[in-house]
Amino acid sequence: MKRVYLDNNSTTPLDPRVAIALEPFLKDVFGNPSNLHFFGRMCAESLAEAREQVAAFLGAAPEEVYFTSGGTEANNWALKGVAFAHEARGRHIVTSPIEHSSVLSTCQYLAENGWRITYLPVDRFGLIDPEDVRRAITKETVLVSVMLANNENGTIEPVKEIAAICQKTGVLFHTDAVAAVGKIPVQVKELGVDLLTISGHKLHAPKGTGVLYIRNGIEILPLIHGGHQERGLRAGTENVLGIIGLGTSCKVLAQEWPTQAATMKRLRDRFEQLVLSRIPEVRLNGHPTKRVPNVAHFSIGYVEGEALVMNLDLEGVAVASGSACASGEAEPSPTLRALRLEPIFANSPVRFSFGKDNTDEDVDFAFAALERVVQRLRAISPLWQGR
Ligand code: PMP
Repeated sequence: MKRVYLDNNSTTPLDPRVAIALEPFLKDVFGNPSNLHFFGRMCAESLAEAREQVAAFLGAAPEEVYFTSGGTEANNWALKGVAFAHEARGRHIVTSPIEHSSVLSTCQYLAENGWRITYLPVDRFGLIDPEDVRRAITKETVLVSVMLANNENGTIEPVKEIAAICQKTGVLFHTDAVAAVGKIPVQVKELGVDLLTISGHKLHAPKGTGVLYIRNGIEILPLIHGGHQERGLRAGTENVLGIIGLGTSCKVLAQEWPTQAATMKRLRDRFEQLVLSRIPEVRLNGHPTKRVPNVAHFSIGYVEGEALVMNLDLEGVAVASGSACASGEAEPSPTLRALRLEPIFANSPVRFSFGKDNTDEDVDFAFAALERVVQRLRAISPLWQGR
């Protein structure tokens, strides 16, 4: 059965070049990078190279790159690490209601432990007004965290403007760039951020690897205590395979991301055009222009999101009904709730997220399947019949 994968915001397939780079580490290169002998040194050298590759891709210095177990850990660390290190100065954090659950749940944890959290307003596309950030900052504020691109609807937030406001007011700024990196320019110095999160498995590297960029000189406490790894800030024997994979994928992306992004945009735009012009009662949820090039997020009226995903899967098309982490929950995700959709659109989110390997045939195949499934589901919907 032909299968088309349009869920690249949930995860991406391993790049074959990454798989080749990993081969020696599955066999002979098995040392512990902390050991001084030959086996350890071989691994330590490869690790250093991977750190340089990630740093070069993000425009950071290698010593500003800290490897973690993924985006979730990096987000937890950024928030808790800064909150705990600066609590004497104040216990106030500013964020948005449409962050990934790893930010929202961490904020909830901090709120239960005495921190005050301000959630910024968002417009109907999920966009934040930097002026609201300026208004939210008080003398107690120690951190602002706003994602660079929303993983569900793809809206790009004005992170550079927000970072400039934070810098002027002496507040640290963190951005979750997991859904943005590889799709739009992400240069830490250009953005002016203090902390930034990326995740390997969204970039054709193995799962279980991420990075927290921490600008030189930022005071942060460790989340994980133990050995001296990651300059004493993140203990535990390094995930050598994952790190080598992420380094390799960053090296590839540094060269290829603009071409990849242009391909994804062309395919995404054509798909979006087909859906909006040929299927009635569909709403596009992301921002019309301030949006990453690989995401088309729709609400398809009179159709239930989970039913749509399952029926598309039966037709060979893999998509998501919300964020991967939120799917399976009966409640709409915080992003959807924040968008304040009318009831007929609120339960029917569907996200098509394109990847570097998608083709024009995939667009045609997915659109034909979507058209069939929507017709089928609406035919048995009393709401659609009686509208
Ligand atoms: N932030 C965003 C925006 C994400 O989409 C994800 C992955 N769903 C994460 C953080 C978490 O990354 P990881 O899966 O590496 O823990």
